[in-house]
Amino acid sequence: RVAELKRLAAEPSVSADGVHVELAANIGGVEDVAKAMENGADGVGLFRTEFLYMGRNSLPTEEEQYETYRHVLDKMKGKRVVIRTLDIGGDKELPYLSLPKESNPFLGLRAVRFCLSREDVFRTQLRALLRASTAGKLNIMFPMIAVAGELRQAKTILGEERAKLESEGVPIAADIEVGIMIEIPAAALNADYLAKEVDFFSIGTNDLIQYTMAADRMNDAVAYLYQPYHPSILRLVRMVIRAAAREGKWTGMCGEMAGDLTAIPLLLGLGLGEFSMSASSVLPARELIGRLSKEEWSKLAEEALQLGTQEEVKQFVEQRSHA
Ligand code: PEP
Ligand code: MG
Repeated sequence: RVAELKRLAAEPSVSADGVHVELAANIGGVEDVAKAMENGADGVGLFRTEFLYMGRNSLPTEEEQYETYRHVLDKMKGKRVVIRTLDIGGDKELPYLSLPKESNPFLGLRAVRFCLSREDVFRTQLRALLRASTAGKLNIMFPMIAVAGELRQAKTILGEERAKLESEGVPIAADIEVGIMIEIPAAALNADYLAKEVDFFSIGTNDLIQYTMAADRMNDAVAYLYQPYHPSILRLVRMVIRAAAREGKWTGMCGEMAGDLTAIPLLLGLGLGEFSMSASSVLPARELIGRLSKEEWSKLAEEALQLGTQEEVKQFVEQRSHA
């Protein structure tokens, strides 16, 4: 079985009836890239850049970041690399920024909210990304977008930095895709509007579940509410994928749910085309998808969406599981 999985590392991610999907890896830094490639990942679906900012005493410079992004893009050899801009706040602190304490950090100045309040930090990262873009296939992704205004502000700043670099004669890739994470229910519900202004969505189920259920993802006392299979989550996921598809945009998923072998047939049935997961899950996922067909997963999702609780959905998909 291990040898069979190894063989799949060089194969495309395709179902028994010929439907191609993208199985990408989540990474936290340069040190994870080799593992992504060894496991045959079709790309990087989420680079959590906050790790470049953590475990140190000062902000990483533009030059340091440029080297890192360029290295990752280069090592991925032209495969898609989705780099998420800084997602700090919530449970991830940067002591050297000495930000004011918040009573609800997960509902506070986190991710793109922080970046829009500290444009200097944001612009440095965007310049590093733009300069690195010629080394491979870069996609830039903004986390924790709640409203269109945040997306527009972020895109405006990105455009300004691009224009500055171009006027300095710095080469920048022409085809950088710009997308957002869908991890706040307000964004999911408004996805048809947001879809007009992005190239792609990536669903962050870790936060989408937390915010939909109003249950802190770090708090064990309410861990029972972390319910990926809840019909409310499945409906949001379907809504997002359909909204993107109507605008000709693609949707991926980079939360933990994307690497769950039991969930994958269901997510395929909801129309998902890109799955980003830990590198070690890529080959098992590819092997599973090779045994599935579109007819089967469409029916599975349609029937699952008739159910009313996570328990019912889970039991139903587990019964039909091939994992
Ligand atoms: C998510 O929220 O699902 C996600 C992928 O982002 P993070 O876990 O880094 O918040
Ligand atoms: Mg998140």
